Amino acid sequence: MNLSKLKDILKDQPKFRHKQVYDAVYRQFISSWQEAGNIPKELRGILWENCPLKIEADIFKSKDKKTVKAVVCFDDNFVESVLMRYGNQNSVCVSTQAGCNMGCNFCATGKLGCKRNLLYTEIVQQVLLFERYLKDKNQKVTNVVFMGMGEPMLNYNEVVKAVHFLNDKDFFNIGARKMSISTVGIIDGIKKLSKEYMQVNLAISLNAASDKLRSSLMPVNKRFGIDKLLNVVADYIFYTGREVMVEYIMLRGINDSVSQAYKLADLLKEKLGKHLKVNLIEFNSTKGYKGSTPQQINKFRAILERKGVKVIQRYKFGQDIKAACGQLVGKKTIK
Ligand code: SF4
Repeated sequence: MNLSKLKDILKDQPKFRHKQVYDAVYRQFISSWQEAGNIPKELRGILWENCPLKIEADIFKSKDKKTVKAVVCFDDNFVESVLMRYGNQNSVCVSTQAGCNMGCNFCATGKLGCKRNLLYTEIVQQVLLFERYLKDKNQKVTNVVFMGMGEPMLNYNEVVKAVHFLNDKDFFNIGARKMSISTVGIIDGIKKLSKEYMQVNLAISLNAASDKLRSSLMPVNKRFGIDKLLNVVADYIFYTGREVMVEYIMLRGINDSVSQAYKLADLLKEKLGKHLKVNLIEFNSTKGYKGSTPQQINKFRAILERKGVKVIQRYKFGQDIKAACGQLVGKKTIK
């Protein structure tokens, strides 16, 4: 899809025509200009020649039909986006970079390095692709999470532009409260976000309650230790009045012990009070790491809850198509 010539093509057209064209692309989610019946045939022809709408992507569906993964190509860079369906909810996880430089040890994306930041139009296209997919089923994208390939805060401006575009009533009209930005803890980004006055949600990928353990899993922790990170998150809560999601990937024998659970509960209560939820994420084994057993996750969860920390656990999406947390590698196969 390439709409770079669109403004030029429409420059002599009346205002209402602009609206018709943008409506067709971003509200009716057309896949071909021929579907835009209210646009004159001649103009449709020009648009067809100059503004291709096709989004180059390979699609994989999980056996339980709850997860759909798209491997999307942006000028030779493959990035992955995932649609997760539960009840009436359709949540899309978008990538913000082609690859990632953060090097989290448990994450397949982290092994790739970062090829480049995505433009906001490329982030938006990942949502558009799934809007088109859901249109046939009379459904819409309800939530967007910036948790795919890449560290969103290292592509801050384009991510914020994408949030505004997706939120715009004239385009996707997805509520800001239905969007979440996840970060490994890039402090400058969290500070900036707290001043944006957006209702978007913030998620912190914590994964350990001690600096020693966190630094062994996530190299970023050597730059911004847990103390510094949670102080900035506390400021974010103060400025925005919003609750923060603390992501905790459950790694067998690594960060899932009873003592880590107690330590985590005490740390979060001391630093963030009650303004948080912990999301315990079931991990999909990669080389070197295994996911915690359901029994261990239950034990861990019970300790947090007993200590007064709110906990959620989401359905494990898309393991069979390598669409789950830490599995995105931008490959056109799922072997
Ligand atoms: S977990 Fe996120 S930030 Fe860490 S390497 Fe993977 S994609 Fe990058």
